[in-house]
Amino acid sequence: MIPSARHLNVENLCIFGSITIYMKYAIFFLSFFSLSIISGCSSDLYRKANRSYKKQVKTFAKILREYPLTDSTGLRYAEQWIGTTNFSMRRPNFVVIHHTAQNSCDETYRTFTLRRTAVSAHYVICRDGTVQHMLNDLLRAHHAGVGKWGSISDMNSNSIGIEIDNNGNEPFTEEQMNSLLTLLERLKRAYNIPQANFIGHLDWAPGRKVDPSRFFSWQVLAEKGFGFWYDTSNVEVPLEFDPVQALRIIGYNINRPEIAIQSYKIHFVPQDTTDTINDTDKKILFDLVKKYQ
Ligand SMILES: [Zn+2]
Repeated sequence: MIPSARHLNVENLCIFGSITIYMKYAIFFLSFFSLSIISGCSSDLYRKANRSYKKQVKTFAKILREYPLTDSTGLRYAEQWIGTTNFSMRRPNFVVIHHTAQNSCDETYRTFTLRRTAVSAHYVICRDGTVQHMLNDLLRAHHAGVGKWGSISDMNSNSIGIEIDNNGNEPFTEEQMNSLLTLLERLKRAYNIPQANFIGHLDWAPGRKVDPSRFFSWQVLAEKGFGFWYDTSNVEVPLEFDPVQALRIIGYNINRPEIAIQSYKIHFVPQDTTDTINDTDKKILFDLVKKYQ
């Protein structure tokens, strides 16, 4: 599911190295080149993590194979069972976009392959546009944490998590944005994800998270059909319009309106660093509500 031509991970390097050394064995200088690659492969940093991944997948597969049926905690609700013939795998219905707040993809791979960090994402997009797939889309990554969006309180069970390699204080590269748009297109089509359901970590967890940062262009995404943007050119806001209720309808948790406003501003008005609702915001929110409700 990843753009394969640009996806060059350690495993691919190893395969390439093996073929090279076989074909060029008789030619000394090329053999030397190949052996250099092979020696790089011997330090496969993620072999242990990959073994752990496969072991965990086997455990989940075992649960699915149990009859009579049990749930994921091992509970059995009935001794008899009749298997329905009509079912499929559960599918993600949201995409949550993050920035890593780290300095390189290698740093992020390390974070996501250490059990003690307890965090992960389905995809990581590096500065050069490389897309690294780290978890099957149908499995639950630990990327969203505590938060709320509309009536959803467990976003990890509902979503794909995408981390963009970015320290939070720098622009996103053109290559990253291009790869992100390609990936979003594939995910949207594969899982029939509604346009409104492409959100940021900051939307899910206002006050706790601020990613992706003000450098991220949600307008570019909305123009391609991922999330919505606004047009305030012909908007007349009624006197009774309540902007905080508008934030709630869009999806924000308004238990603490001041922090919902902060996330709204970063997402929809990144050039505005204030945290109060002004007349322009009212126009924006009035227009957005019609699209999100
Ligand atoms: Zn995040």
